[in-house]
Amino acid sequence: MTVRQDLPQKKPSSHQRHISQLERALQETVERYELVFKATHDILYDLDIQSSAMSWNSELCDRFGYPANEPINTLEWWIAHIHPDDALEVEKHLYEWFASTENTSQTEYRFRKANGTYSYVLDRCFVTRDAEGAPLRIIGSLFDITEQRELDRAKDEFISLVSHQLRTPLTIIRVYGEMFADGLLGQITKLQARHIARMTDASIRLIKLIDDILDVSRVELGHYAVRRELANFNQLAQICIDQVAPLASAKQIVLSFAADPSCNVVRVDSTMVMQILDNLLVNAIRYTPAGEGSIQVACRREGEELLLTVADNGIGIPKADQGRIFDRFYRAHNAVNIEEHGTGLGLYLINVLVKTVGGRVWFDSAPGQGTTFYVALPAD
Ligand code: ADP
Repeated sequence: MTVRQDLPQKKPSSHQRHISQLERALQETVERYELVFKATHDILYDLDIQSSAMSWNSELCDRFGYPANEPINTLEWWIAHIHPDDALEVEKHLYEWFASTENTSQTEYRFRKANGTYSYVLDRCFVTRDAEGAPLRIIGSLFDITEQRELDRAKDEFISLVSHQLRTPLTIIRVYGEMFADGLLGQITKLQARHIARMTDASIRLIKLIDDILDVSRVELGHYAVRRELANFNQLAQICIDQVAPLASAKQIVLSFAADPSCNVVRVDSTMVMQILDNLLVNAIRYTPAGEGSIQVACRREGEELLLTVADNGIGIPKADQGRIFDRFYRAHNAVNIEEHGTGLGLYLINVLVKTVGGRVWFDSAPGQGTTFYVALPAD
């Protein structure tokens, strides 16, 4: 049938015009989103929490090698493709996020590709909630950060390697310096002795810095293997206290320890506990002025946790610095004045170690009056 052009056409009603305007607007919106999807090169997803339905843009299949017919449209598929070592953390993070009032979130994990290998992804997402705050829908993007991770890893490995290489020659310098100072290599003048002592001190400081860097990189590279064993916490503490006692007495600082029988048998990583306690003790001594100082160490069991405290009456931590004190290389300005040569790595390392075993570390500090550090570790 042909329509005769000369027949009068029926004009669309205002309702029909409105509908077609809406359709055009919708079409434009869809096109805009498609262009945004293409422009970002990110993998994008949309998850309906009630139904567990999940949709992805085509980048997911393009980047991770999945065929177009892969059944990627469920929450279960996503979860099953997260690396088993990261899945629990991701789940925990999700529950914490849902329970909070925060609407945006980001997390990192390894995601499985079609060929069975994993990519590190940065998952940034936004949740919509109902009137009660319960999550309804998540819109998110995955950004592949594998290359960046590998670069970081190579950098850390390089630092670790160089540090190892530096440690040996520095130890030689230290040992010969000490032999000169002890007169084992013949008579030296007072002036020579003074210069050699400065050389030895400098090498000891560098060795300590290298040891701290190596400890930190070992933990960050995931090379620290936690070894829990039955141990007597009171004994471990006493060993650490005996080790630092000469430092304390050189500054006339009184060191006391309240042993607690409930800590006689605990299941902890002894090396880690001693490293933590040693760092806290050395800090307490370092940041307590000579003369009227006192440091109290105590431990007790609190439910399933072992609570360790180290309290001093030293310089304290200024309020302005308290929020950053666990940051890598961070030192408060009053600490720099009293002790020029810190590394700012000790507390960072403690924080990372404590987290590795699911514990916590925090402090109370009154500037000019003293600081108490608390470490809570799982005891069983
Ligand atoms: P470092 O002692 O080598 O500087 P740390 O990481 O062990 O590095 O400590 C970081 C900073 O925290 C210190 O520089 C100091 O400002 C502060 N701090 C740590 N322990 C104490 C303490 N017991 N009293 C006062 N300040 C402290």
